[in-house]
Amino acid sequence: MIRTPAKINLFLKVTGSGENSYHTLNTLFMPLANPADELELRFDAEPGIRISCSAPEVPGDERNLCYRAAALYADRCGIAPAWEISLKKNIPVAAGMGGGSSDAAAVLLLLNRHCRRANDAELAALALDCGADVPFFLAPRPALATGYGNRFEYPEPDFPEIPLLLVNPGFPISAAWAYRNLSPETVGALPSGYEQDFLTALRRADLKRLAGLIHNDLAPAAYRKFPVLRLLRNELLEAGAAAAEITGSGPTLFALCKSFKKRDELAAVFRRNYPQLTVMTSSLK
Ligand code: ATP
Repeated sequence: MIRTPAKINLFLKVTGSGENSYHTLNTLFMPLANPADELELRFDAEPGIRISCSAPEVPGDERNLCYRAAALYADRCGIAPAWEISLKKNIPVAAGMGGGSSDAAAVLLLLNRHCRRANDAELAALALDCGADVPFFLAPRPALATGYGNRFEYPEPDFPEIPLLLVNPGFPISAAWAYRNLSPETVGALPSGYEQDFLTALRRADLKRLAGLIHNDLAPAAYRKFPVLRLLRNELLEAGAAAAEITGSGPTLFALCKSFKKRDELAAVFRRNYPQLTVMTSSLK
């Protein structure tokens, strides 16, 4: 069994719209050790690709990203598959946390470890064909991404640990919807020096500075359509989070906290006041 990590986008700037409805962006991906899905791949199965998945809302057929990844791998590498994948979902679904993408990347990595048919570039191309966030999960570490989110620069990962709270409201947002509802006037480059400022603030765990810098172009549409997200963000800030924003296409909110004690207090308050929310504790490293 392997654990497939979640991610958050600490900033996300849409820089343009490219071909095949993908947008170009500039984003800082941070992998999270927690939450993570649990994935098992068996190679001694009946011919075909079979998926069993713990989450009823995730299709267990060829629509599952794990299936897509396995089918693409088999097709490109000329292998007749006899694979069985079991997946325990712990990452909320359609939540902006990259759960499906992480699962798909894990399938590609496990298949290639076993079959050894693709080199790194071929595996990266297969990953991008599975979805825009999949290439990041082939080597999940803090990454500045450009292009369709598939060109990476890896800053020195010498970041101090920052306590993190994740709040998921329990309804999905599709990434396609978020991009369709993006305000066109926000599309454009980041201010010059932004990325360096951001990384410096992260290295210093300067939460005040980070609060001023954190930005997500996909957030306004989500706040407009689901005002509860703005209420939750405000409440996180009023209750003592140092910064809070939507990750990726949403709806999950992440909150940076000054201490683990503060994070756990916030988690307890939100769990008590809003039992219908999924509240997860984690940290940025
Ligand atoms: P991202 O942040 O990469 O845009 P997300 O976290 O918002 O993705 P996912 O949880 O990956 O979204 O799910 C997106 C859609 O993909 C859902 O509609 C879901 O039903 C479908 N899906 C297919 N396979 C999976 C999978 N293995 N895990 C989760 N969702 C899956």
